[in-house]
Formats: sequence, structure tokens, C-alpha cells
Amino acid sequence: MVKKRKIKKIIDRPKKKQLKSKKGIEEEEVKSSTVKEKFVPQALRGMRDILPEEQRYWEYVLEKMAKISKLYGFEKIDIPVLEDAALFRRTIGITTDIVEKEMFSFSDKSGREIALRPEMTAGIARAYIENGLSNLPQPLKLYTFGSLFRYEKPQSGRQREFHQFNLEILGSASPVIDSQIIILSQNIFKELKLETELQINSLGCPLCRNEYKKKLLESVRYKKKLLCPTCQTRLTKNPLRIFDCKEKNCREVSYTFPYIIDSLCDVCKNHFIKVLENLDELQIPYNLNPRLVRGLDYYTKTVFEFWPVRAGLSEDEKAKISLAGGGRYDELIQSLGGKPTPAVGIAFGLERIIEEMKMQKQTPPKPKKTLVFLAHIGEAAKKRALRLFEELKEEKINVKESLGKDSLKAQLELANKIGAKFVLILGQDEVSHRTIIIRNMETGIQEIVDLDKIVKELRKRL
Ligand code: AMP
Repeated sequence: MVKKRKIKKIIDRPKKKQLKSKKGIEEEEVKSSTVKEKFVPQALRGMRDILPEEQRYWEYVLEKMAKISKLYGFEKIDIPVLEDAALFRRTIGITTDIVEKEMFSFSDKSGREIALRPEMTAGIARAYIENGLSNLPQPLKLYTFGSLFRYEKPQSGRQREFHQFNLEILGSASPVIDSQIIILSQNIFKELKLETELQINSLGCPLCRNEYKKKLLESVRYKKKLLCPTCQTRLTKNPLRIFDCKEKNCREVSYTFPYIIDSLCDVCKNHFIKVLENLDELQIPYNLNPRLVRGLDYYTKTVFEFWPVRAGLSEDEKAKISLAGGGRYDELIQSLGGKPTPAVGIAFGLERIIEEMKMQKQTPPKPKKTLVFLAHIGEAAKKRALRLFEELKEEKINVKESLGKDSLKAQLELANKIGAKFVLILGQDEVSHRTIIIRNMETGIQEIVDLDKIVKELRKRL
């Protein structure tokens, strides 16, 4: 008997097969479909559930973000989670980490290559062109919220499914718009009572960037061997990304390279000076960070990030858990076939912001206490309680029920747990006499009142 069970256990155990590691993607266990197995459903690696107990953080943060954005004239837009994979290749850039390694892309049933969105701006640019949004008064201010997908190595602050709140201002080249989106973002963090610091840089335009690339390559020429293989390839394809490399050697040597901020053309330099002057005008502190390059190809001119400020966090750690990041993308819409449309945007990482709120001990206000609890005894009373609950809701009385529980003791325990001030008790007798008991949970005093007058009676007491 024991033997038999053992054999069954072995058969039921999922076979482990190792996937060949591809481009740094970690090896994963896969269950062989040929073996009879007990299926244990689990969220995919790097993806997680957001449980009810955490929702108050999400609601609070999103409500604040949307409220402030609306005050600045932003309107909501929703875009699909799936897009043609080519959209991201063309906008984010084929040599970026996101497109090279991290895109959740696959062929659909018609053989078309589609991708789960790894970021929002490309989709918004597509929607702007496709829906003729350039015909609306410009600049157009849009906000959106949703989940993004990147096949990264999951770690603290880095998931494969995460959520962003995005702001985009399309149709203005003015530096005042860069400043305004930064000020608005600063206000969001202020409202959430989060300590952050603004990092800012300019990546110039294609013109000055090309000139700069020549200078950079010249400076790197004799130090190429010190760079990691990825950075050596980046040199020809996307040299700015060298400043983003986490390898120790690359980081050390990159401090000897020239920065783009010192090679800006006059137009880009003046633009950047104006952005900074506007921030000075409003006394917004910033850190001019010449190493801030951002991970997407479409950025031009101003780029910025908001890093958390907390005792014990090193500069590297702050950069790693950057709470929000954005910049100008003046060429993006035209590169997708739209009219020349200068634009600027920012993306706030919700998971990181909520985590940071917990670290900085910022809790959302407690939800309003439920003052009234509706309890029932017996089947007839349960039926009447179902209706009474609806009636009380219609009268905007903050009431909770537990129609799924039959024991009065259990119902009263729950009422106690949620801190209800009054419990309404509806039993068989009460239903037939059209009455109801109001129990004051603090004093224990019970009163019998007319069921038809319950709203009035409650209002007197609340
Ligand atoms: P990005 O789109 O890469 O510029 O990121 C903007 C913001 O999104 C970051 O500052 C983070 O707060 C958040 N973010 C980006 N990638 C992830 C990720 N893999 N997991 C969690 N949050 C992320």
C-alpha cells in the first residue's frame, strides 16, 4: 500500500525541464505536459495580485494624481494593452533593453506579431495620430493609467507586470511646458507627502547628439576594452546608454567621458536654460545630472526623474527605485507618420510609489467608519434584511451587512470588529410586527422601533 502511494507520488510530481538561458533571461522550470500532474495555479513570475487590503493605497494615490492632473487641464485617455509589436520597435528603439530583451511579444492567430505594452507613450502617440487628435486645441493634455509588461528579472521594485500613471502634453515646443509638467509632478509628490529629489538633464536634438556621439567615440577609443561586451555594442548603436550600465568597470570609466550637456547646440541649450529658469522662478530644487540618459530612444532635449529621498539610500539605490521618469519627445509623432508634434510626458510607477509611501510611513486616511450594521435571525428576516439593506443604501446610510452568516453571535462579533456604533437586529417577531431592534454597541441598550421609521430613527442617533 505504502509502496503504491509512493509510486503515484513520483508519477504525479511535475517533471522539471530547464529552458536554455537566452540573453540573460533566467532559467525557469517548466512542467512537462506529457506527465499527469496536479495543477497548482500560481501567478506568473514577476506578476502579483493587489489584494483588497492594499487597495486603499492604490485608490488614494490614483485619486490624488487624477484630481491634480484635471486641475491642470488634463483629460483621460485609455489605450489598448496590446499593440502591434512594430510600434514599440519603431519608437522605443530596437537597441534598447526594453525592445531587445524585455518585450512580451508573440504571434496572434493570424500570425501578426503583437506585444503587451511595455510603456504608454508609444500607444498614446499612435492614438493621437489615428484619432486625429491634432485637430483639437493644442497643446493637448492627456493622462492615462494602466498595467505595463516587461520581461525583466524580477527583484525589489522591478516586476514584469507593473502600473503607471502617465501624463502627456502634446503639441507644444515651449520650455514652459517642460517646466509645468515637472511642477505638476512635484505637486503630486508633495500631495502624497513623499520626499523626492528631481534629477534633470538634456539629451539634445538629433543634430547635437550626432556631434556629441563623435566626441564620445573619440574619447572612448582607447578605453573600449574596459567596457563590457554590451557597452561595446552600444558604442555603435546607442552610445548614450553607456552611462546607464550597472557594470562596475563601465561605470568607473564612464566618469572620464564627455557628457552631452556640454555639447548642446544653441537651440537645445537655450531651451534647457529656460526650463531651469522657470523651475528657479518657482523655487523648485533640482539636481543637474549629466549622467541621466533614460532607457528609451525617442527622448529629445529635457529628461527628468524623481528619486526617493530617505536616510540610508545611496545615489545608485535611489536611481534604481526611481519613482517617476519622463522627458520631451519632439520627433516621436512625426516618426510614426503624424504631423510634427513636439511633446513632453512623465510616467509614475505606482508600485514603487506605494512601496515608498510605506517606507516613509505615509498612510492613506482611514476609510469612513461604518456606523450601522444590519443583523438578521432566521430565513424570513434574512429576506427582509436584504431589502432593508437596499432601502438604507438608497437613503445614503453607511451600513454593512453579513447576509452570508446565520449565527447572530457571529454577526455581532463582526459588527464589533468593524466598530459599528449601532446594530439593527431583525428577527422573526420583528418582521411580523414590522419593527426592528436598534442596539447601541457602546451602552448595550436595545430599543424597539417601527421598521417604517428606521431611517428617521437612525438619523436622530447618527
Ligand atoms: P520608464 O517607463 O522606464 O521610464 O519608467 C517610469 C517609471 O515606471 C519608473 O520610474 C518606475 O517607477 C516605474 N517602473 C519602470 N519599470 C518598472 C518595473 N519593471 N517594475 C516596477 N516599476 C517600474
